[in-house]
Amino acid sequence: MQTFGLIGKKLTHSFSKRYFTEKFKKENIQNAIYELFELPTIADLPALIKNQPHLKGLNVTIPYKLEVLPFLDNIDVAAQKIGAVNVIKINDNRTLTGYNSDYYGFKESLLTFLHHSNRLPISSMSEKMKSLKALILGTGGASKAVRVALEDLEIPYLSVSRTITKETANANNHILTYEQLDENILKSHQLVINTTPLGMYPQIEACPEIPYQFLTSEHYLYDLVYNPESTLFMQNGAGKGAKVINGLQMLYLQAEKSWEIWNQ
Ligand code: NAP
Repeated sequence: MQTFGLIGKKLTHSFSKRYFTEKFKKENIQNAIYELFELPTIADLPALIKNQPHLKGLNVTIPYKLEVLPFLDNIDVAAQKIGAVNVIKINDNRTLTGYNSDYYGFKESLLTFLHHSNRLPISSMSEKMKSLKALILGTGGASKAVRVALEDLEIPYLSVSRTITKETANANNHILTYEQLDENILKSHQLVINTTPLGMYPQIEACPEIPYQFLTSEHYLYDLVYNPESTLFMQNGAGKGAKVINGLQMLYLQAEKSWEIWNQ
């Protein structure tokens, strides 16, 4: 039997457990189980690895995505750049390698979104991407994976935050407040990515405060929020003719990436 699981402090409802339990059933993977491991502190991780000899892989959730770093033997390049790990592979010699699957989920889903929106072959995508600039709304955990993915895709971006502190200014080369967003910025930044939790169920009447009146059919709105399927941010964009996508595909892709990492 191979064990996979999720570590976090309080694990009430878990997308990952549901996803992998259904996957194992659907794909007739009989020798695998996915369990929840609540750790009061991340210092309990080495004991978990020792006591669970069949453990092959872990997902990591709040509040341990950063705290877990010192407990790992190796960290994948993208995860290092992001500074956060949400997947751990337990190698045959019981060493631990950390990855960030949000990075892969976002990057792959963005490419598919642009590909489908433009009806362009993948081979012409780099040309299209060269013409794109992005706005990243929010400067939290998920925004870091988005930033590194955009850097790797060579899409220039500006971050947008409610407040600019010394810390966020240092971490984000180019940062604006929502009040600074005007017609020129919206015109020159056609990819707008919501990494804030605004609009997520049950607060479905909320959306980031950007000047939606300047959006056009040339814009692409990517919402990391996946519940509801159509957020107010997406509806506002679609109303102006923009192409829109929610965070569901990213969510599934990041889960599948975990599986690929654990089995590679
Ligand atoms: P987080 O660390 O709490 O960061 C969210 C950021 O949003 C904050 O740092 C803040 O940035 C901004 N923000 C928070 N509350 C706000 C408000 N009331 N008004 C305006 N801005 C606000 O959260 P996260 O872990 O990055 O997750 C963000 C969202 O992405 C969540 O909804 C999460 O479910 C979703 N997500 C989806 C996927 C997926 O696979 N689809 C993966 C990861 C996360 P400023 O202080 O700079 O304004």
